[in-house]
Amino acid sequence: MKLLALRCPTCAQPLKPQNPEVVVLRCAGCGTAVSITDTGLASTTIHFAAATVENFDAWVPLWLFNGRVNITSRQTQGRNKQAEQDAQQLWGYPRNLYVPAWDLPTQVVCQLGGDMVQRQPQFQSTAPPTQATLVEAVITPEDALKLLEFVVFNVEAGRKDWLKELHFTIEADTPQLWAIPAQRAGSEWRLQPVLQ
Ligand SMILES: [Zn+2]
Repeated sequence: MKLLALRCPTCAQPLKPQNPEVVVLRCAGCGTAVSITDTGLASTTIHFAAATVENFDAWVPLWLFNGRVNITSRQTQGRNKQAEQDAQQLWGYPRNLYVPAWDLPTQVVCQLGGDMVQRQPQFQSTAPPTQATLVEAVITPEDALKLLEFVVFNVEAGRKDWLKELHFTIEADTPQLWAIPAQRAGSEWRLQPVLQ
């Protein structure tokens, strides 16, 4: 384990992560988004999504990929024309692919990511707010890419034709980190309702 002096690279104020797994957080002093890797700290870019609701509690981090999923083989137990067509339609062209980046159980990441890939919410970028609570990101871009495989698998396993085997490849660019307005619901975060 390597100990890093956790200071903001812009204003040198000490950073105080809540989560030991943190990979991106926002400096409380100057608002710089700071990424923490094995090689050190660096300022990074976060795109803030414009709020569609007036009241929310914080921004939550989300990796957004432009990508394409190529299904090379999809074997099922049952036959269901509709499910087959839906699968072809969903993955037939390049899409936005989403991986929630805050601290969540993997199963929830898959559900949320799968729901979003089917709804394709679009975010409008807005100027970084001066006082913004950003929930820490704990997923690296590399891990997000791995999690995308689970997202795809989860979507296909959810169809009504008893998925038996699935082979696919994902082509994706380096993801962007977005901050999405969210409301606190108990111990969870509920994303703002996004236009479809
Ligand atoms: Zn700072």
